[in-house]
Amino acid sequence: MAILPILIHPDPRLKTVCEPVPDMSDELRTLADDMLLTMYDAPGIGLAAPQIGVLQRVIVMDCVKEEGAEPKPVAMFNPEVTASSDITNVYEEGCLSIPEQYAEVTRPKLVQVRWMDRDGKLQEQEFDGLWATCVQHEIDHLDGKLFIDYLKPLRRQMITRKMQKLKRERARKAL
Ligand SMILES: [Zn+2]
Repeated sequence: MAILPILIHPDPRLKTVCEPVPDMSDELRTLADDMLLTMYDAPGIGLAAPQIGVLQRVIVMDCVKEEGAEPKPVAMFNPEVTASSDITNVYEEGCLSIPEQYAEVTRPKLVQVRWMDRDGKLQEQEFDGLWATCVQHEIDHLDGKLFIDYLKPLRRQMITRKMQKLKRERARKAL
């Protein structure tokens, strides 16, 4: 297993609509394992394949936050929201591709999601609370959408400029 570098916004790969994965394979299981390792290392509660430059519809999550609680890693292949509630919820979201920037985003409070699991079986389940926010945020990544796309243009531009500066600084340090 490997910890992979996470792409930082702005990057054209983070704006791409990703391809569905074909049938389950060892390569896809390894990809999910590497993504989980990368997510836990960051640390974060969710990661989508385009964030590591793989333009396929794969996401991983673990929204268990309580200290000492059992981890609950979830890997989803070709996830899709099949139903969502009219009731909304506001969360202060962040993103591993937009480090140290947070903003309130309104999304449906409950979502029904269907996906293929690591054994190639179809699963369908309802998510609530932080899990619901996280799964919607990650599925957005597969459609080239970031949480800052929900913000007003001025705020989005400010964050993008900060990220461009961060990337320039990191590139200089790498020389
Ligand atoms: Zn994200």
